[in-house]
Amino acid sequence: MRSKKIDPILDKYLLFTPGPVNVAASLRHAIGKEDICHREPDFDNLLTSIEQKLLTLFEIKKRNRYRAVVITGSGTAANEAILSSVVGNGSILILSNGEFGERLHKTSVIHNKRTHLLQQPWGMPFDTDQIATYLAAHKIDVIAMVHHETCSGMLNPLAVIGGLARAHGAIFVVDGVSSVGAEVIDMAGCNIAFCSSSSSKAIGSYPGLSFVIGRKKQFKKLKFHVAKTTYLNLATFYGFLKQHGQTPNTPAVPLFFALEQALTNILTEGVANRFARIRARADQLRLGMRKLNLEFVLDEATMCTILTTVKVPPSISVRDLRDRLREKSIIIYEGKGCFAGKVFQVGNIGELSDRDIQFFLSTLRDVLLKLQAEAADVVAPIRTKAVIPSIVARAMPTRAKVRS
Ligand SMILES: *Cc1c(COP(=O)(O)O)cnc(C)c1O
Repeated sequence: MRSKKIDPILDKYLLFTPGPVNVAASLRHAIGKEDICHREPDFDNLLTSIEQKLLTLFEIKKRNRYRAVVITGSGTAANEAILSSVVGNGSILILSNGEFGERLHKTSVIHNKRTHLLQQPWGMPFDTDQIATYLAAHKIDVIAMVHHETCSGMLNPLAVIGGLARAHGAIFVVDGVSSVGAEVIDMAGCNIAFCSSSSSKAIGSYPGLSFVIGRKKQFKKLKFHVAKTTYLNLATFYGFLKQHGQTPNTPAVPLFFALEQALTNILTEGVANRFARIRARADQLRLGMRKLNLEFVLDEATMCTILTTVKVPPSISVRDLRDRLREKSIIIYEGKGCFAGKVFQVGNIGELSDRDIQFFLSTLRDVLLKLQAEAADVVAPIRTKAVIPSIVARAMPTRAKVRS
């Protein structure tokens, strides 16, 4: 149990993760709004407001050419909705350079017999010549790619791949789960037919909702495909939106109130201001971490603005680092897959203040110094058999609840 503090606002975790995020106070209020029925005009109005705000967030100029459907389900639901709804009996090429590209592939294989895969090792950029050659040799109807590959922090090139899709007569679909709300996604300019995202990453709301924004022309074609799922059928979502202004099944209405508020907050700040603020935070964190002699997995020019993937210094266990930071109320991610044990990830989205970032950097410094000192201690006593590592570990203070 977390101890109660005198000031309850400070008694919280600071989520330096790429989602979930610390939500704004206005969202806590919004999620507890009145009880409404999702088959009443109240909900139609709420959904319309969310859709309009999403079109504004995407800075779409020809607004009557695009629509957005909102799904009760996390980001994976939106990705699976796209992958199960847009391919039909055609073929799809998945481009993967990390965990989330691999997940797109795994999902597509379930729904689409003709799933192709071109992959790069995690954290490596795509080889566009290789992709162009592949497209010239194979009949591909849909190309799918993750925009921000969250496992490494790499931002993949939307315009280049969108151009290749156009040149080869394929439609282009994008997993924007961890970039929407922080990075520009030019749907028209990059030839994107459908883009998915979720409520709980850079948009800054609670987890549980996702959405697909897409070209009306493409939404209209979906009804000609045989349905592969019931709940996640995009054609059904589109039909309900058009006919009733609603969702096909019971939506998580309180989360819709919160998402609407999160979008209002972004638009009140201004989309460009918002993106600039997230970038400034990333810069601040990266500068601070470089000063601690930490190295990053990627070149900064290829990184998304929402998170930094950091190499674990020699002699330090990433698990210990994570545990010690948690004792100070800071939550980070460990690397997964081939990055496990080698990297940690620091996100910078959600309600994190400058003071929180300074607190993070100073705490990280203290924890790293302590862990390094302990590692040095452990090596020496082992030789003299005076102290064994477990004693050193047990001698450390357990979870002390400290907040700045
Ligand atoms: C987080 C994430 C997902 C999965 O989202 P869930 O909300 O966990 O279902 C998919 N793609 C990317 C790029 C992500 O970062």
